[in-house]
Amino acid sequence: MDIDLPDELVLPLATGAPYWYWLGGRPALDFVNTLRERWRRNVETLVTPADLEQWMQRTDLLPEEWRPNRGGGRRRLTDQVLCEARELREAIDLCVRAAVAGEALDRAAVTLIDDWLIHAGARPQFALAADGHAQLGERAAADSPRRALGTIALDAATMLGTPAQAGRIRICAADDCSARFYDRSPAGRRRWCSMQTCGNAAKVRAHRARQKEAAR
Ligand SMILES: [Zn+2]
Repeated sequence: MDIDLPDELVLPLATGAPYWYWLGGRPALDFVNTLRERWRRNVETLVTPADLEQWMQRTDLLPEEWRPNRGGGRRRLTDQVLCEARELREAIDLCVRAAVAGEALDRAAVTLIDDWLIHAGARPQFALAADGHAQLGERAAADSPRRALGTIALDAATMLGTPAQAGRIRICAADDCSARFYDRSPAGRRRWCSMQTCGNAAKVRAHRARQKEAAR
């Protein structure tokens, strides 16, 4: 499931879509993992506004057809929103790293995440139902890119602001992996983002080391 990045990569990428990584276990961590190889190259996979739009659609945070223009054409996600999204992502990661290290969270990063919560949560909607009756309902959760970012910020705030959840944030133990993930294992002792990739590679290395030791 994991797609390792090839050693020869032309950076910046034209599009990051082939390299998105979905093992974070929750939206805020999948989002943080869109900056890949944080341990060496910092490969940006949200390269263009179209990348961000597609990423949000894949996570169901944004519908395929969001807020069509009155003129009939589709509205596009702007450079500004992409910029803000990356800023939010890095604020979340700063907090994630602090949480993993057991340190206090950065005040500016917390404020930035908090600012996004304005866009999160339920919003009432007053409209006429199909039978003509007036109805107080709820607006669809995903109707704009900023709303989607608000939902991610809320997931981050929930995770970081709930001690039992903050204690389950992990950074993969492999030296050549920087994936952040949420540990849902019963014992809470998961070390690798994936047993199939990083966990298996570590087991193979440990096995070889034992064989070498035995051969001596
Ligand atoms: Zn890993």
